[in-house]
Amino acid sequence: AAKRAGTHSWMRHDPSMVDRRAMDAALADDLTGAAGRGELVVLYQPIVDLETGLATGYEALVRWRHPVRGLVPPLDFIPVAERTGLIYDIGLYVLERACADMAGVPGSPYVSVNLSPRQLQTPSLVHDVLAVVRRSGLAAQRLVLEVTESAIVDEQSGIATLHELRSHGIRIAVDDFGTGYSSLHYLTRLPVDILKIDRSFVAELDGTPTGAAIAEAVIRLAQVLRLRTIAEGIETTGQTDELLALGCRTGQGFLFSKPRPLDEILLSEADRP
Ligand code: C2E
Ligand code: MG
Ligand code: MG
Ligand code: MG
Repeated sequence: AAKRAGTHSWMRHDPSMVDRRAMDAALADDLTGAAGRGELVVLYQPIVDLETGLATGYEALVRWRHPVRGLVPPLDFIPVAERTGLIYDIGLYVLERACADMAGVPGSPYVSVNLSPRQLQTPSLVHDVLAVVRRSGLAAQRLVLEVTESAIVDEQSGIATLHELRSHGIRIAVDDFGTGYSSLHYLTRLPVDILKIDRSFVAELDGTPTGAAIAEAVIRLAQVLRLRTIAEGIETTGQTDELLALGCRTGQGFLFSKPRPLDEILLSEADRP
């Protein structure tokens, strides 16, 4: 605890004042063992059928309940966890929580867990993921792993890893699709099941053909490649209607629910008429 007391400089607002590596080290110091101390919280955002509004699955999204800083969003610590390698154990912790939490949920929804590039590059990943899934009792068919385009494209070995995960029944989603730099030709050879349409393209849906251009192109591409699409960041009913008209039936966003603790979500779903 004495060591932790001196490390509050890591969120100083002017990063130019401090050496990034020193800041990373301070944050990493705080982050080490955060899972063991029970400071990592996994929230869930429903992924819904856009026609019925009913959840078919949930995305697991981590938060860090820091004793001094309060609830820290992932974008404030995942990048450092990635640079320092802490992400490997954090990722397995989130996976373990997500599988255990979801195993007993009625209706057998799937759970979608984010996988960082660093995790994908670690040779023990498949072994460790399978061990966690088996221990949890969750059927592998109920697990989706989300990877970004750049994570796959950067590493040849990443593709082999995805093939192996899929051979065990785990599905793969490409997260934030359209924001990376992989060529469309490349996509036809990727071992993936789902394209998640990045929320920047959903935000452009404004009833005009130009606004819909990218979402529409992604949906058509997915149809031809026989992939499912999930639209991210849906905030309005207008966006929902446009997505349905374009042929995308599944999505998530604040319109339906922000990420919340699972027990809270299940209670409110049980309340529904
Ligand atoms: P992501 O995987 O693309 O997750 C979707 C993000 O969009 C989440 O932010 C979610 O809260 C936010 N979001 C959902 N609906 C809406 C909406 O309608 N409007 C807006 N403006 N935002 C919406 P969050 O939870 O802050 O996570 C940010 C990113 O951090 C994630 O993006 C993911 O890349 C990363 N992340 C989160 N949890 C994990 C994890 O366990 N492991 C790894 N490696 N990365 C994680
Ligand atoms: Mg994601
Ligand atoms: Mg995303
Ligand atoms: Mg995103």
